[in-house]
Amino acid sequence: ATMPPLLSAIANAGRHGVLVKSAVVMERLGQVDAVALDKTGTLTEGTPRVTDIRPLVGSGLDAESLLTLAAAAEHPSEHPLARAVVAAALHRGLTVPDTRDFTSAPGVGVTATVGGQTIAVGALARLLDDAGDAREPRDAGDAHAHVRDAAKAADAGCAASAEAAVVGAELERGGRTAVLVQRAGLPVGVLGVADRLRTDAATTVASLAILTGSAPMLLTGDNARAAALLAEEVGIGDVRAGLLPQDKVTAVQGQEKAGHKVLVIGDGVNDAPALAAAHTGIAMGRAGSDLALETADAVVVRDELATVPAVVNLSRAARRLVV
Ligand code: ADP
Ligand code: MG
Repeated sequence: ATMPPLLSAIANAGRHGVLVKSAVVMERLGQVDAVALDKTGTLTEGTPRVTDIRPLVGSGLDAESLLTLAAAAEHPSEHPLARAVVAAALHRGLTVPDTRDFTSAPGVGVTATVGGQTIAVGALARLLDDAGDAREPRDAGDAHAHVRDAAKAADAGCAASAEAAVVGAELERGGRTAVLVQRAGLPVGVLGVADRLRTDAATTVASLAILTGSAPMLLTGDNARAAALLAEEVGIGDVRAGLLPQDKVTAVQGQEKAGHKVLVIGDGVNDAPALAAAHTGIAMGRAGSDLALETADAVVVRDELATVPAVVNLSRAARRLVV
């Protein structure tokens, strides 16, 4: 028997390095008329490197001890930024201490207890906001001494937050992701992290714009400055930055309510809800998180973004043969 067109298209997609999970998906791929791409790990290679290590003035830390603390907290995380921080520490021959009580919040960062103190590492804008909330006086009936201590801590916290914000803005203007490190709720340093654009990012964005007939969207949890710089390089005009996982879903649903069938391409745990909400979701396989790979309808196994427009074309060709 000759193979049904959608099945041979799946085999063909496999030869291109894309795992399409079903014939239904193979068919749906050709229907998409809008596209939303994640930034880190999707438009970029997903192997970021630490470029800057900036302990804050009052922290008493040097570059190596700041990096050690951050690496300890990041050690259990599978986020590309976490792997960059750990790799930087190991590269410098630093010993990464054990941690307890690890938690992670997709699109925000991680916390862990290192040597009895809580270390938080993550998105500068988000952590500084939270620190501001934590310093709000809670109970007017507190003992005077507590109020005085809290006020002192708030002063120290304000100075450190202000310094962190300045350092972070400088790094972000240079296209870096600014990663804040906090110890016991106070900022102690900022790391700059940068990833390379995929060599096929701009051509893929252009192909997808032509194939879908609409302007591609960038959906990222990263900061607006770095996102805008990268968007300009790849030719994306519609940039949504500082998004939490649920915000990515809302952006996709907005397009779908406007009548579009949206293709979402992502790699992270933070992309999983948007991959699920999309008409069709594709995950980047090499650096992708397990959750993204499981949630997506198709997986780019060979690490090339340009395979995505290729499989959309395969789907369209197959659908012309299906009666
Ligand atoms: P993107 O949407 O571009 O793939 P994410 O949503 O995964 O990015 O992350 C958004 C931001 O949250 C990152 O730019 C970073 O500042 C912060 N972040 C998330 N996880 C971590 C982590 N493990 N370590 C440091 N920063 C993190
Ligand atoms: Mg990502």
